[in-house]
Amino acid sequence: MTELEALLAELERCAGPDDPRAVQVLSRMLDRLLRAPIADCALCAWQDLARIAGAIRASGGTVTAEQQAGIDAAFEEGAKLLVPFDPSAVPSPASLPARVARALRPGRNDPCRCGSGRKYKRCHLAEDERAAH
Ligand SMILES: [Zn+2]
Repeated sequence: MTELEALLAELERCAGPDDPRAVQVLSRMLDRLLRAPIADCALCAWQDLARIAGAIRASGGTVTAEQQAGIDAAFEEGAKLLVPFDPSAVPSPASLPARVARALRPGRNDPCRCGSGRKYKRCHLAEDERAAH
């Protein structure tokens, strides 16, 4: 039986979330996952930590500053997996077959796809028109 399985078994023996032992077991579980996550992706690892911290608080317990720092660090790690949106990575309609390109073009008065903030007709429309012919 792994340490985590033992903790889960211990948690099951608690009378319920109001049982003062539950908070203590959850806190040890949190420490165990902070030492070595079981999830294979950083975001899932953070989610596990956040869930247990939530359960501790819901049971009237407190998450220590040290534990919270570990959870925050795990979040930073997970956030690295979220790639920021890069408008320049959106394919130019001109590079696509004409029919698809037309369907994907913004409306004349919509914001341009390049993220300039200008209306499409005042930005890339002319360029797309030229490329389409
Ligand atoms: Zn543009």
